[in-house]
Amino acid sequence: MIKDLLQHKQTLSFEVFPPKKDGEFEAAFQVLDSLGALGPDFISVTYGAGGSRSKKTVDIADYIQNTLHIDALAHMTCVGCKKDALLTVAGELKQANVSHVLALRGDRPKDMTDEQYTSRDFAHASDMMGFLKENTDLHLAGACYPEKHYECFSLETDLNNLKYKQEAGAEFFITQLFFDNDYFYNFREKADKKGITLPICAGIMPITTPKQIGTTITLSGSSIPKELADIVAKYGDDPEDIRKAGIDYAIRQILDLKANQVDGIHIYSMNKPKTTAEIVNAIR
Ligand code: FAD
Repeated sequence: MIKDLLQHKQTLSFEVFPPKKDGEFEAAFQVLDSLGALGPDFISVTYGAGGSRSKKTVDIADYIQNTLHIDALAHMTCVGCKKDALLTVAGELKQANVSHVLALRGDRPKDMTDEQYTSRDFAHASDMMGFLKENTDLHLAGACYPEKHYECFSLETDLNNLKYKQEAGAEFFITQLFFDNDYFYNFREKADKKGITLPICAGIMPITTPKQIGTTITLSGSSIPKELADIVAKYGDDPEDIRKAGIDYAIRQILDLKANQVDGIHIYSMNKPKTTAEIVNAIR
């Protein structure tokens, strides 16, 4: 179980996303083979907020668990799912021998009406966790935000809400990506003071293209330190230079986290085995 690994070592894990089209599974399996060869402790698989592509998440998690024999952590979101649909996915995961789920609320899909949003079965991820805990034997993890979640007005309140996930049965947390380790250290210290005792894996995304900066900030709300902005400004015109500099930045971030006793490193791999391998080889 992942929670046991976290008791004994600084874990290394990756996040992947499932293919958009059915015809792309073979290529996705090749990516997974390469990532699996790097020896991660677990690999997590993302899930669409509305849940419409849940089968793809299950199929990729199945491959990780049963072909690569690496613990798969399947993400599940509840914002667009009713209780019975969640139980169906939980049943498919059980069938595939996948026993770990990152339980998330998800972001409100653009086409969701106010009525649908306010009448959803689970208001928050912790509510979904309580339900899964009661109705399944899944091992649960939760998301957390070193720079606070964008809907919450303060880190203090966000941490109070994070504690509900611990109380609802989460076994560990994975952070939103961040580029400035000081946010993480501040968050970890404050979480500790709140009595949040679960291991926290730090989410790191290597920036390898200038475009990624824009999409990453929009999606995650993470701030970009001047050093990283300067790297993009300096090397942005040359794809190979920006790639090297972005990887180097991620490596330095991870080495600093490891030296500061982080519980685990979770690399947002973006399904890029070469980039991930360069980082892993440098941090081992
Ligand atoms: P919650 O924990 O429910 O928190 C959402 C907001 O509600 C926060 O502001 C929180 O402070 C507040 N809140 C929580 N509980 C309470 C309470 N009891 N009372 C009042 N306020 C409360 N999205 C996807 O669609 N698919 C994915 O695969 C995916 N993977 C992710 C992986 C990681 C590691 C992370 C960090 C995020 C991921 N996301 C994913 C994005 C995530 O779904 C969004 O960030 C979403 O907006 C919040 O999800 P949550 O589970 O943190 O929600």
